[in-house]
Amino acid sequence: MHVLIVEDDKALGDGLVRYLQQAGYRVELATSGREADLLLAHEEYDLVILDIGLPGIDGFEVLRRARQRERYVPALVLTARDSVADRVHGLDLGADDYLIKPFSLMELEARMRAVIRRGQQTAETQIVYGQLTVDIAAKRVWVAGNAVRLTAREWGVLEFLVLRAGKIVSKEQIVSAISGADEDLNLNVVEVYISRLRNKLGPAGVKIHSIRGFGYYLDKTTDDAA
Ligand code: CA
Repeated sequence: MHVLIVEDDKALGDGLVRYLQQAGYRVELATSGREADLLLAHEEYDLVILDIGLPGIDGFEVLRRARQRERYVPALVLTARDSVADRVHGLDLGADDYLIKPFSLMELEARMRAVIRRGQQTAETQIVYGQLTVDIAAKRVWVAGNAVRLTAREWGVLEFLVLRAGKIVSKEQIVSAISGADEDLNLNVVEVYISRLRNKLGPAGVKIHSIRGFGYYLDKTTDDAA
């Protein structure tokens, strides 16, 4: 297990490194947000233990940038501030768990194991078609490694098509999949979402075909030249 510790408090950082090395982890230490950001951009880790209060770019910003990247690295956030707002902000940005300082090393290790385990499950929910990667659990999409922003409805349509890739689905099926309980969406809105998805995902070479008078299907075969 390859772990990155991001901690500017030298005594705490060194202590964590020693403890986790003895526990059998391969550990690296970054002492600033910038250093952490560079390492996360170029190295593969099974987990990042991330202090929030850092000089320069803080832990929130490091996490925000990490979540823009295709590869999902589980993140355990450390905060000295016992503030609900901080914890909520960290979780909103995509932290998997948090620990409030001071914490016991045994508790840290137990949380690490849980987060790593969940991270492995997340990786299994990724579907890849050529240049398109869709993470069903995280509701995220990448084209050629670049995150693509979708609205909730666009995501709903894409998820429905991806989970039935290669099969024809009707507009009615799509509408009922993306409608709220008390909404009555017009069938024509499906065309709008499909057209937006084609624009956003087009560079991936993945095609959403129309079957006139019936519906659509997502073609699993990709055109590499696209
Ligand atoms: Ca700190």
